Amino acid sequence: MSRTHPLRILSSNPDPPRAGVAPALSSPPPQSAPRTLRDSHGRTIRDLRLSITDRCNFRCVYCMEPDVRFFPREQLLSVDELERLASLARSLGVERLRLTGGEPTLRPELDEIIERLGALHFDDLSMTTNGSLIEPSRLRLWKASGLTRLTFSLDSAREETFAAMTRSRSSAAAVLRAVREAHDAGLGPIKVNAVVIRDRNEDQVPLLASLAARHNFEMRFIEFMPLDSGHAWNPALLVPAEEILHLLQTAGRLTPLQRDRPSDTAELYRFTPSQDQLSARIGVIAPVTRSFCGRCSRLRITADGKVRPCLFSLREFDVRALLRSGADNATIEQFLIDSTWTKQPGHGITSPDFEQPARPMSAIGG
Ligand code: SAM
Ligand code: SF4
Repeated sequence: MSRTHPLRILSSNPDPPRAGVAPALSSPPPQSAPRTLRDSHGRTIRDLRLSITDRCNFRCVYCMEPDVRFFPREQLLSVDELERLASLARSLGVERLRLTGGEPTLRPELDEIIERLGALHFDDLSMTTNGSLIEPSRLRLWKASGLTRLTFSLDSAREETFAAMTRSRSSAAAVLRAVREAHDAGLGPIKVNAVVIRDRNEDQVPLLASLAARHNFEMRFIEFMPLDSGHAWNPALLVPAEEILHLLQTAGRLTPLQRDRPSDTAELYRFTPSQDQLSARIGVIAPVTRSFCGRCSRLRITADGKVRPCLFSLREFDVRALLRSGADNATIEQFLIDSTWTKQPGHGITSPDFEQPARPMSAIGG
């Protein structure tokens, strides 16, 4: 079956992105000094997810269909453009920057990107990766360039399930090896994400949590969100947070912990497997059944230079066109301020009129 190119879907969006045009605001954000990224619901943006590619060597069932089409290279933000946007975001009060994709390790200029963004001295400069293409020598280089920590994805420790879910030639063993190497290179605390899907990998929840205790990483279980390129999401595939917690309780002791920051997406627990002395921090990220929109502090910029105020935005704003039109820094800053102001109060996944965005997670940046 042929699929529509993401760009074509976007251009038929009922409220299409407006190339390089500042968002039309009915009530513009009040000016203040210092200038910050705030929305009209009282939230301040401190976290930027910057996607550097929409390409990937995996085809995870919850993210990317095998025949997905990628953006032509010239449409991706260049290294200069990425650095300029990151620097402007820093000056607007963004404290933490996460590089993502697609698979960020597929971007040929990744080492240079980390080096140049590292020089901007964010409080935290992290990256999310599927961990399949990582060499130990690069981990040390990234650490020296200012990368603070890495987050990995691992949906199953059982190789058969791993292969079925990622539709890749990599292995759970390779990801776990990369996790260990990242830890040794000082890129911790390491977090590992698993998307939990009904009848696919819920049996892996206790096992992954026990592995986290043994290998000293924080395991985070994420509810499946309607952001898959095949639009196959349906509530029957969701394993809700409550069930994830129940699965953990059957395998050990679970004690609630305070979130590190109120805006953090994960509910935190300490998990001690039965008959084990070791324990691990476990995060449960439940955007569907326990929405945390009210505390959101995130803004996303896609690899092709669209500002997305929310993962589930149907509107996005074309900052790449502005960058390439020769706009000065003050104009771009104002564009980021105005785009942020439009951030919707929540995503309403559970409401009957919820509309799945045309972009899959891989073309947004998780
Ligand atoms: N390729 C890298 C990776 O997989 O870690 C980084 C990009 S990936 C889009 C970022 C995160 O989004 C991953 O942890 C992945 O599990 C998560 N993700 C992707 N699609 C999702 C979905 N439909 N629902 C929930 N999480 C999803
Ligand atoms: Fe690739 Fe990450 Fe999406 Fe999996 S979740 S297909 S690794 S971008």
